[in-house]
Amino acid sequence: MKGAYLHIPFCEHICYYCDFNKFFIQYQPVDEYLESLETEIKTTVNQYGAEDMETIFLGGGTPTALDHDQFETLLKTINNHLLHPGIQEFTVEANPENMTEEKLKLMKKWGVNRLSVGVQTFNDSLLQSIGRAHTSAGATQGIELAKSMGLTNISVDLMFGLPGQTEQDLETSIDQALALDPAHISIYSLQVEPRTIFYNRMRKGKLKLPAEEIEAEMYETIISRLQDKGFHQYEISNFSKSGFESRHNLIYWNNDEYFGFGAGAHGYLEGERTVNAGPMRSFLRLVQEQGTSMVSHHPVSQQEQIEEEMFLGLRKIQGVNKHNFYHKYDRTVHELYGREINDLKHRGLLYETDHFLALTHNGIFLGNEVFQAFLG
Ligand code: SF4
Repeated sequence: MKGAYLHIPFCEHICYYCDFNKFFIQYQPVDEYLESLETEIKTTVNQYGAEDMETIFLGGGTPTALDHDQFETLLKTINNHLLHPGIQEFTVEANPENMTEEKLKLMKKWGVNRLSVGVQTFNDSLLQSIGRAHTSAGATQGIELAKSMGLTNISVDLMFGLPGQTEQDLETSIDQALALDPAHISIYSLQVEPRTIFYNRMRKGKLKLPAEEIEAEMYETIISRLQDKGFHQYEISNFSKSGFESRHNLIYWNNDEYFGFGAGAHGYLEGERTVNAGPMRSFLRLVQEQGTSMVSHHPVSQQEQIEEEMFLGLRKIQGVNKHNFYHKYDRTVHELYGREINDLKHRGLLYETDHFLALTHNGIFLGNEVFQAFLG
């Protein structure tokens, strides 16, 4: 099974926490970018084939920041070169302020069957303080409009551990998300990354984040509140109704292969990790010169594959399938990691069944510590 990730690196505003590859959309060569993206897709699909592809994820940046004609051009390109009857999931990342009837109609028309909506929080003052452009009411309206138009497979994407966020704020946001009856909720804690506005504020001592213990309590609240409402946690930060797990993201966690199209996108094809040029000029020039913007590709050694299999697989609540692992690598997880596994089990961070090796409840909270043990 294979997926395709397409990156649209344009945004109408820059959020204070964001370290993605993105550019302020004004004055950017958007039309030229879309043409180059099509060239890159054609060249790559010719080389690798897309018959076994099952998911498409259009992310960014903000794909929905494109104007009507540009957005339709992009969706047509995807239909012409990637969308085939075997595609089970076609997700578009949408920002609430762009979820207009016009854009939603285009998505329906061109085969989009899942939306991942970047709400982050339903608290207006928190939205403002993290640099988002929408309001809580706008997010609610956008999601309700999408549902009324038949786009019902919706993920509400939230954040926690925001500056000034209280547990009460978080609970209210979760309840407002649940009131919209989404199929999926993803909820990540804020990470302050270099080259972001928040990072600069933090260095100046001007960013007040919730204490670690409060953040752990918030995470506990998230798990119990969502589980109470019938959502099952299938990955550290992802919860869904049964049958609505993100197939595309499962490709990453299952360590399966995927195309990466667009500026700065990463891919994993025929055992090689690929990286595309991030800066706009380099992206456009490379596609013109060589048909793709790939700047590096490196074969993943078996050792690296095994490590990735462990730390990606353990992100899933189900854990690593020990039989699949043995079939893939001809060695059992115990032959390779017996000491580490015993130690982590002893510390109550891992547990084991006949088929799976998985994080315990405590292990979910200390995931990074567990993953570290499997890295060479
Ligand atoms: S978080 Fe999304 S909308 Fe905000 S700047 Fe980053 S890519 Fe753009």
